[in-house]
Amino acid sequence: MTDLLAARPQPDPATARSASPASQASLTLIGAGLAGALLAALLAQRGRRVTVFERRPDPRVVGYAGGRSINLALAERGRHALAEAGLNERVMRHAVMMRGRMVHFEDGRTQLQRYGRDDSEVIWSIHRGRLNLDLLDAAEAAGARIHFDQRLDEVDFEQRRMKLVDESSGARRELAFDHLLGADGAGSALRATMARRVDLGERFEPLGHGYKELEIPPAAEGDWRIEPHALHIWPRGGYMCIALPNSERTFTVTVFLPQDGPHPSFATLPDRAAVHSLFAERFADALPHIPELLDDWFANPLGQLGTLRLARWHLDDRAVLLGDAAHAMVPFHGQGMNCAFEDCVALADRLEAEADAGVAFAAFEADRRPNAEAIQAMALENYVEMRDRVDDADFLLQRALERLLAERHPGRFVPRYGMVTFRRTPYAVAFERGRIQREILANATAGCTSLDEVDLAAVDAAVLGRLDPLEE
Ligand SMILES: Cc1cc2nc3c(=O)[nH]c(=O)nc-3n(C[C@H](O)[C@H](O)[C@H](O)COP(=O)(O)OP(=O)(O)OC[C@H]3O[C@@H](n4cnc5c(N)ncnc54)[C@H](O)[C@@H]3O)c2cc1C
Repeated sequence: MTDLLAARPQPDPATARSASPASQASLTLIGAGLAGALLAALLAQRGRRVTVFERRPDPRVVGYAGGRSINLALAERGRHALAEAGLNERVMRHAVMMRGRMVHFEDGRTQLQRYGRDDSEVIWSIHRGRLNLDLLDAAEAAGARIHFDQRLDEVDFEQRRMKLVDESSGARRELAFDHLLGADGAGSALRATMARRVDLGERFEPLGHGYKELEIPPAAEGDWRIEPHALHIWPRGGYMCIALPNSERTFTVTVFLPQDGPHPSFATLPDRAAVHSLFAERFADALPHIPELLDDWFANPLGQLGTLRLARWHLDDRAVLLGDAAHAMVPFHGQGMNCAFEDCVALADRLEAEADAGVAFAAFEADRRPNAEAIQAMALENYVEMRDRVDDADFLLQRALERLLAERHPGRFVPRYGMVTFRRTPYAVAFERGRIQREILANATAGCTSLDEVDLAAVDAAVLGRLDPLEE
């Protein structure tokens, strides 16, 4: 563990900005996962005194033990936040481009459904562990002090003192703080201590579906086994598999299934024979590519999924929550981290602009909470779309009309996926415009089987009448 009493490294003069005189109070971050490490880097680069406490050991010493998905889809919001911290190039060195969804139908056919217009509108698969290491290095290089093996246990908000447990020795101690920033993930300990003091209006909605991770290794000659530049989906109605590429020429496969209930659910797959027959029957083209299927299935944990909603994210100037601690979501839009990174920039900007941390926290929450709620709703909708609709004729016709309207009305009819993924349109705006656009698409294609049957003049009039040009 880093020596708590060691002199604080000086901010890197190349990246440090001068802090305003009113912002000299120290900032204590809980959690050095994706959001905590990026926020620490951004704040330290802006000249703030930043101390971070992370429950896990230093992954640069003991290796990364993530516990969540092995790789993630990085999109424009995340890239923008990384660029703010000077990290975009470093992270992108290991990123694998994904041009669209490669849909694997049950009969073995595959179809690439592009996400955007061309290769300027793509998403990127990145390795969570490697990204976390890059972020930790950047935070320390900018002057943040990170203490590992330190779990936040309890907070005395009256006295502004927190209790920490050293996870390696079990030792407990108390430390003073000025302001606490909670980036300690979906099971946030800071949130639990805040909730003992004020009603956060907390609601957790379990999805009822869980996930397991598996691996497609490289082929014998070392090459990719399936198309590398795509996010693969095996949609099967009430459940699905996906696979994202890694730069090592492997793929991480994630199986999403109901936790209980009729076959197939995790509850109906108690043994190797049951798992093998599910793959043989429903994911036949994937099965030969997952040689360790059965061992990995029983060795890897069953991950839980759900949506965390809070009516309140901050406690005056004493504590604020961000990232999954404030708004954990289901992973089906690939936006949890991207949204958390957008939070980091928003919070760093507010803390730079406002002398009073309480004002900054309130403004941050007012700006971000409606947007987090919008992406949570879109992520839930996307699960149904991915597992159930990407192979359905109505959906494909609507997608074709959507592309046509995007060409006919650039900057006005922008597909919702694009607003969320390729732009930084506020999520709440994307959600509302997306609702109107879906109505236009559904009305225009009702009863049609091909684009030729669509009344384009009427659709154009609906677009011009109902959608203003999109402001960036
Ligand atoms: C299966 C799956 C796939 C996903 N795919 C994507 C994707 O493709 N794209 C995307 O954008 N997002 C994706 N996400 C979401 C993404 O993983 C999260 O939104 C992101 O990790 C949130 O970052 P965070 O820093 O808020 O929380 P975390 O990454 O969970 O980090 C929290 C940190 O706090 C530490 N901590 C916890 N408790 C304490 C404590 N008491 N004291 C001190 N430290 C503590 C933890 O050890 C951890 O390091 C996915 C999630 C899942 C589950």
